[in-house]
Amino acid sequence: MGPPGAGKGTQGELLARKLGIPRYSTGDILRQALRDGTPMGVEAKRFMHAGELVPDGVILGIIGEALQHDDSGGGFLLDGFPRTVAQAEGLQVLLADQGLALDAIVNLVVDDAEIGKRLSTRGRKDDTVDTIRRRLEVYRADTRPVLEWYGNHDTRVLSVKGVGDIEEIQAHILERLGL
Ligand code: AMP
Repeated sequence: MGPPGAGKGTQGELLARKLGIPRYSTGDILRQALRDGTPMGVEAKRFMHAGELVPDGVILGIIGEALQHDDSGGGFLLDGFPRTVAQAEGLQVLLADQGLALDAIVNLVVDDAEIGKRLSTRGRKDDTVDTIRRRLEVYRADTRPVLEWYGNHDTRVLSVKGVGDIEEIQAHILERLGL
């Protein structure tokens, strides 16, 4: 977890590769659906381009599907999900159905000034000034409370500084995970 531009995708990819486990990124899955022009992609597009969250039902559908087809024996990494308390609650049900539980949340900590700098130079289609502002607002209002929620639901939240050398940040993540 972490604010937009914190490096979730970059660190998530490195970690999944290192551990040899699949990474399920709701952002990547949605962007692929958008490119493919599927009904889900068409529905998600207006939310993504406005910096809003795609409705919880759509997101839980994506993750439910991914977990249903997951044959990694429970070793997987979720990237950019959950982003609302309702999604966290939905995930709890999906995991319980399969006798699974989360080992930990990795929370990438990056301050607002650095986030602003990164997003304004990243150049992704949904990175316009208005969209960036809205995504940060939505992060604060809807996603940050998820960290506290996990703190109250017996899941370790490991906060790791997300600034500096990419490999060093990865090393810190592995260390905090005890790997
Ligand atoms: P990301 O690549 O993770 O920054 O996601 C890009 C966009 O996809 C977000 O700004 C949201 O519009 C949407 N999105 C991705 N993951 C989620 C999620 N878990 N819940 C709601 N919307 C999401």
